[in-house]
Amino acid sequence: MMITAKARAVDGPDQSFRSAEIKRRDLDTHDVLIEIKYAGICHSDIHTAHGEWGPVNYPLVPGHEIAGIVTEVGSEVSKYKVGDRVGVGCMVDSCGECENCRRGEEQYCLKGNIQTYGGVDKYGEPTQGGYSTHIVVTENFVIRIPDNIALEAAAPLLCAGITTYSPLQHWGAAPGKKVAIVGMGGLGHMAVKIAHAMGAEVTVLSQSLSKKEDGLQFGANHYYATSEAETFEKLAGSFDLIINTVSANIDINAYFGLLTLDGTLVNVGAPGEPLAVNVMSLIGHRRSFAGSMIGGIRETQEMMDFCAEHDITPQIEVISADQIDEAYKRVLASDVKYRFVIDTSTM
Ligand code: NAP
Ligand code: ZN
Repeated sequence: MMITAKARAVDGPDQSFRSAEIKRRDLDTHDVLIEIKYAGICHSDIHTAHGEWGPVNYPLVPGHEIAGIVTEVGSEVSKYKVGDRVGVGCMVDSCGECENCRRGEEQYCLKGNIQTYGGVDKYGEPTQGGYSTHIVVTENFVIRIPDNIALEAAAPLLCAGITTYSPLQHWGAAPGKKVAIVGMGGLGHMAVKIAHAMGAEVTVLSQSLSKKEDGLQFGANHYYATSEAETFEKLAGSFDLIINTVSANIDINAYFGLLTLDGTLVNVGAPGEPLAVNVMSLIGHRRSFAGSMIGGIRETQEMMDFCAEHDITPQIEVISADQIDEAYKRVLASDVKYRFVIDTSTM
């Protein structure tokens, strides 16, 4: 007897979301059944649903910022029990055996991690994501949500939180370091809060100054508009680390000029089209251009606990399941403050 979940699915790149019923597998020995309460809307959901990252196996149920309650556990589950508050992020499994998995970097599994939606699970079934009422996940890919983080606020941490926490940690955001965040949307606003909590001096580089007050309130020390040419002159050579969260293809070379000697620009923004890189600007000051993908399971738990300890939560707008199409339009127009979260009780 498989589990039936209510969901919102999309049937093609130009289609609207519709109601759907999807099947979740019966619980295997190490599986937990989660009743999803909230699911965040990540720009990656939009890139995927619109087919910008390659062919999609429609119908697709996106959603990889999942928060809910455990309602059933498999016979050998040891980490969770019924009633626990838990989350699931961008991946639901990996090989567990390769060098990267053994290092706790399951997102870089050499056989490919199994993505929460748009993937194929180890039983050969397509995976479907969090815009739904229930999901079954193996316990090792489930994250515990601390009691002082509301479920709706926890959801965006599972992608936007970890995707910014991981490179900030890896490249050493800390007191004495100057960090710039490019783009203040879902990922960007989390990056500001987390980098601030890590003690770095934080600058936001946004298209305009319209969100400046919010940025300063999130913990930024400085806020500049990239639409003003003097921003690039004034800030030349200033940052040890730049995290680019922009979902679109921007002139990345202009930003290399803002790095110090040995500075690094990390792209987490993932536009479908290639970026044109002028290597001279990297060569000139031994600068690095890097990428980073979410974070491992251990690090995701670490990020969750860090946010609980530092009282860091996203600023969210809770919507009903009928508002997904409208929310997508608003995200595409950079009109999001700062993450849409679906209340799955409206499915
Ligand atoms: P989002 O909420 O839409 O934020 C993106 C921000 O980028 C916007 O709020 C806007 O900020 C800025 N922006 C958008 N279009 C722009 C343009 N044409 N020129 C300049 N700036 C522009 O998106 P998100 O959910 O944070 O995701 C951001 C990107 O990260 C997406 O590409 C997503 O797929 C990717 N992502 C990657 C990973 C990973 O593991 N690497 C994980 C999650 C998401 P301002 O208004 O402040 O300018
Ligand atoms: Zn995401």
